[in-house]
Amino acid sequence: MEWLHDFINLIFPANCAACGNILMRNERIICSECIYHLPKTDFHLIHDNPVARIFWGRIMIEQATAYYFFNKGSRFRRLIHELKYQGRQDIGYELGRAFGHDLLNSGFRDIDMVIPIPLHRNKLRRRGYNQSESIAGGIAESMDKPVSTTSVIRVSQTGTQTRKSRYERWLNVKDVFRVTEPLLLAGKHILLVDDVLTTGATMEACAAVIQEVKGTKVSIAALAVA
Ligand SMILES: [Zn+2]
Repeated sequence: MEWLHDFINLIFPANCAACGNILMRNERIICSECIYHLPKTDFHLIHDNPVARIFWGRIMIEQATAYYFFNKGSRFRRLIHELKYQGRQDIGYELGRAFGHDLLNSGFRDIDMVIPIPLHRNKLRRRGYNQSESIAGGIAESMDKPVSTTSVIRVSQTGTQTRKSRYERWLNVKDVFRVTEPLLLAGKHILLVDDVLTTGATMEACAAVIQEVKGTKVSIAALAVA
C-alpha cells in the first residue's frame, strides 16, 4: 500500500503542523526536525522541579510536571494555537502519546487513571472539543491507563484569567469543579492533564475537589508550562 500512500501524498501533501514543511513518509503530524527542536523540560525526571514547586504550600500532590516550555514565538506555541483554536486535536493526541511514553520511564508510572481538566459545557459547545482531552487520550494510550471525562465536571464558567491577580484567579476557580462519580475515583491515583500551566490555579482547584474523595491521590501533567 506504500504506492497509494505516496500517491495520496503527491496530490494532498501533509504538512508539518509546526513549521509547514511537507512531511516525509515516516513522519506524522510534526516533522522530525521540529520534534527534535521542541523545548522539552524533562521535569518528570526531577521530583522537586519548578512545576512541582508551583503547588508547594497550596495543595498536597504526588508529582507534577510539564512536558515543554511554552516559549513565545516558538514552533511549539504554533502547535498549541492549532490545537486550541484550529481543531487540530491530532496534535494534542500525538504530543500526548510522546509525553505518556516518557512518563512511563519515571515515577508517574504508578497512576491509575487519567483525567483531563474539563471545560464548561457552554465552552465545549462553542469550541466543539476539549483540547486537554486529546492530550489525555494520547498519554493514556501510551501508559495503557483508562481516561475518564465524565467523573469531574466544570460547573461554573470563569471569566478571562489574564488581567487578574493570582489571588483573584484563585477565588475565581475555587468553586468551579465538581466530582460526579466519586465511586469511580475512590482509592485511585489520578493524573490530571491540562494544556498550558500558568498560575496552577485551575489544576489546584480541580485537584482539591478530587482529593475530597476518600483515598484519592493526585499527580499533575501539563503539556507545557508558561
Ligand atoms: Zn516541522
